[in-house]
Amino acid sequence: MSAPRVGVLALQGDTREHLAALTEAGADAVTVRRAAELDAVDALVIPGGESTTMSHLLRELDLLEPLRERLRDGLPAYGSCAGMILLASEIVDAGVPGREALPLGGLDITVRRNAFGRQVDSFEEDIPFSGLDGTVHAVFIRAPWVERVGDDVEVLARAAGHPVAVRQGPVFATAFHPEITGDRRVHHLFVDSLRR
Ligand code: GLN
Repeated sequence: MSAPRVGVLALQGDTREHLAALTEAGADAVTVRRAAELDAVDALVIPGGESTTMSHLLRELDLLEPLRERLRDGLPAYGSCAGMILLASEIVDAGVPGREALPLGGLDITVRRNAFGRQVDSFEEDIPFSGLDGTVHAVFIRAPWVERVGDDVEVLARAAGHPVAVRQGPVFATAFHPEITGDRRVHHLFVDSLRR
């Protein structure tokens, strides 16, 4: 099978790191900034960055509803950190009204934005990750955690007792940033899931 075409939402955040990680994991990685570009991909990655800014831009660029609709139709997706926040169905501490982070609803989870950030802004930890051998070096930067998971959601990793990596069918999310560590196993897991 030819390489799956994976878009990286390129409005703000660490787009370049995901493009590199996806390419190394065997995907045909392209940027997505417009609805026509969204239509042309088999899957989408939402990078780490700032979920409120990305939400604002999604609305400005008329991408918010098209993206919600594709996720409803089963678009495979992976979000890291801010991307996890956006893929959630519910966001706690979403930000100031009018400039808040907007849920896209790819995952039946409730996330708390900046959850770890209130205790310690950023930290790194080696954590077990379901389906991967050994541990994953997880870098958390003003990261969210998951406060509620729906029945169909699988928890893949935890930190400080909270789910920090989840999967619901074709949609994955991590509260940390595998794209910045050089370890491509999480991106591989996602890209390989697209080939099945
Ligand atoms: N705190 C950021 C947000 O709310 C996420 C941080 C990150 O992606 N590293 O979007």
